Amino acid sequence: LDRTLFYPEGGGQDSDTGMLVQNGKKFDVSRVEKSGDAVIHIIDGKNKISGGKIEGEINWQRRYASMRHHTATHIINASARKVLGNHIWQRGSYLDENEARLDVSHFRRISPEEVRMIEREANSVVMGAKPVVKEWLPIGEAEKKYGMHLYQGGAPKGKILRVVSIPGTEVEACGGTHVDNTAEIGLIKITGTERIQDGVERIKFAAGYKSLEYVQEQEELLRKAAGILNVDTAVLPKTVERFFREWKKLRKQVENLQKDAAAIEVFNGVKIVTQDDMTPSAIKSITSGGKSVVISPGKTEKSAMIRIARSPDVNVDCTTVAVEAGRILGGRGGGRKEVAQAGGPDLDKLDEAKARAIGMVKEQLEKDL
Ligand SMILES: [Zn+2]
Repeated sequence: LDRTLFYPEGGGQDSDTGMLVQNGKKFDVSRVEKSGDAVIHIIDGKNKISGGKIEGEINWQRRYASMRHHTATHIINASARKVLGNHIWQRGSYLDENEARLDVSHFRRISPEEVRMIEREANSVVMGAKPVVKEWLPIGEAEKKYGMHLYQGGAPKGKILRVVSIPGTEVEACGGTHVDNTAEIGLIKITGTERIQDGVERIKFAAGYKSLEYVQEQEELLRKAAGILNVDTAVLPKTVERFFREWKKLRKQVENLQKDAAAIEVFNGVKIVTQDDMTPSAIKSITSGGKSVVISPGKTEKSAMIRIARSPDVNVDCTTVAVEAGRILGGRGGGRKEVAQAGGPDLDKLDEAKARAIGMVKEQLEKDL
C-alpha cells in the first residue's frame, strides 16, 4: 500500500484492526506492525491480494476507545505530576481498547487519597474541554519551546518531532492517536495501582465507555453483596463488620461445645478424644492441654478425611496412623509426627478407618509403657 490509516503497534498503543477491501472482496486485518518505514498489515486466511486499488477500513469503535485511553494517559501523567510532585516521569505505558496503564517513577505507594486527587485533577481537564493540539516541529525548536520534559515516552527518533499538547496541562513528543478535544474522553477512572518494581508505581485506569462499564460492575458487586445480607449498600461495611465479629464469636462457641461433646477415653493416662469435624484450632486447644490425642473424622460429598493430632508429651507417631487410615479410605495420608491427616474417596470406610486409627494409637501408647 502506498499509504494507510491503520495505526501499527507502537508507543505502548495496541495496533488497529479492520479490513482491506478489493473488488468487493474483504480481507480481515488482525494486526498491523511497523517494520522500518513500512507498515505491515497482517490478514487472516490464505486469500491473496493482487495489485490495484485497495480500500482500508479500520475498526473505528476500537480505535476511538484507544484514542480516549491514549489521550487519558497524557492527562493522568500530568495529573500525577501535579498531585505527587515534579519527580513523576513516565517509565512505561500500555493501552488498548479495554484498559490503559501508566508506570511512573515514585518512591512510595500512591495512597487512596492521592488516587482520588489524581482522578479529580484528570477529570477537571476532561471537563475543561481543552483542545488536543498535534504539530510537527524541528527537534531544536521543540526542545527550546517545551524543554526536555517532552520525552516522557523515550528518546526521540528523527529530526522532526510530532508534539502533542493540551494547553496548560501537558506537552509530549508522541506518535500515537489522540482525540481532538479532552471532552471526548469522558470519565477517567483509576481502577487500581500496583508496585511493579522499586521506585515504579503502575496506575491502571479506564476512560469513556470502559470507565462507565467499570463503575457499573463495581456497583453491581456492591448491590449483590448488600442483597445477600439484605441491607442497603450504604450500611454494607458496618453490617459486614458486625457479621464477621459475630461469626468469630460463634466459631469460638462451637469449638467449646465440641470440646464438651467429644468422646473421651483415658488410656494409659492419655486422653483419646474423638469428635467429628473439629477445626484445627479446636484440636490445638485440646492438645495444648497435654497428655492427649485427638482423632477427628469428617466428610464432604466426595471424600472422607481424618485428622490425627497429639500433645508434645505423648509418644505417638501420627504420620503412620494417617498413612494407614488413608489406605483404608482409598486415598493417602501423611503429615508430621504431632499432626497428620488422611483422606480418600471411600466414604463408607470412614468408621473402619476411625476404629483402626484409635486401635493404632492404643498400640503405640501400650508400647510406650
Ligand atoms: Zn500520545
